[in-house]
Amino acid sequence: MNHIVIISVVVLGILGLVSAVILYFVASKFKVYEDPKIDEVEAALPSANCGGCGYPGCRAFAENATKSASKNHSLEGFFCPVGGNEVMQKVAGILGLEIEEKDPMIAVVRCNGSYAHSPGKVKFEGVTSCAFAHALYAGEGGCQYGCLGLGDCVAACEFDAIHMNPETGLPVVSDKCTACGACVIACPRDIIELRKKGPKDKRIFVSCVNKEKGAIAIKNCDVACIGCGKCEKVCEFDAITITSFLSYIDFDKCRLCRKCVEVCPTNSIWEVNFKPRKPKVIKEPEKKETAKKPEAAKKPVEKTSVAEKSVNTKKSEK
Ligand code: SF4
Ligand code: SF4
Repeated sequence: MNHIVIISVVVLGILGLVSAVILYFVASKFKVYEDPKIDEVEAALPSANCGGCGYPGCRAFAENATKSASKNHSLEGFFCPVGGNEVMQKVAGILGLEIEEKDPMIAVVRCNGSYAHSPGKVKFEGVTSCAFAHALYAGEGGCQYGCLGLGDCVAACEFDAIHMNPETGLPVVSDKCTACGACVIACPRDIIELRKKGPKDKRIFVSCVNKEKGAIAIKNCDVACIGCGKCEKVCEFDAITITSFLSYIDFDKCRLCRKCVEVCPTNSIWEVNFKPRKPKVIKEPEKKETAKKPEAAKKPVEKTSVAEKSVNTKKSEK
């Protein structure tokens, strides 16, 4: 009996030892080396896990950034929109690199087809989802490019930075925007664009994405871009291009001179965070008084349309 116990213990002991040795060699052979910097980079990130950087979460961003730093000595293509330049400088420091700061970005809504500008012709009573409505019809105002107003962008934003304005039926982006791009992806109409915030938060953009011919576009919305080309002609910095009857302003070239805003006949170009312009006083040419036209000494005429437009556009974004 004693013999059986001793033999069992010895056999089991040997088996255990052999298994341990095998496991040790297998573990050494297939060991995955993980750079300890990955943990440091992850700790420096804001843990938003929003995917705005293009990776499925902060850990994946940290892994890929660390890999790129050790392999290519570069962080090109890596940017955490939530943490911004401050966090990216920390990440670069951890990885022993230097990087240039990026201009801050913000989401802009490129549609001004409010209830007033694009009055409803039909009533939608289906599922309250823009993606669903987009597959079914053009929209209550009839513009097949315009905002559907059902708030998929609002639902996608994890930062409470975008809300529907009940008066206009359009989304409004606040300063809480981190430019993560979730709303850009969620919008089935590609209305939302990430653009540079601009100096002192001033920016100019075409608030329309309608690519139909001008006559058709304006039929459904009185602030649609009609692709007339006046803005393109007046821009001295080559910042504006017209493609498919639609104007687009390149924010890298735009110098915020606002000449395009002045000439746009449909008010589809928005200027944001500018001071309202002083009304221009147009002096009438001096006329010789004659007995025939005594009314020539009229008061100067005030041209107010541009100033009104400037105030309106700013209001609309808020
Ligand atoms: S508004 Fe858009 S880009 Fe800005 S934080 Fe929200 S989802 Fe991200
Ligand atoms: S911007 Fe796009 S996602 Fe947002 S409410 Fe309009 S159509 Fe829907």
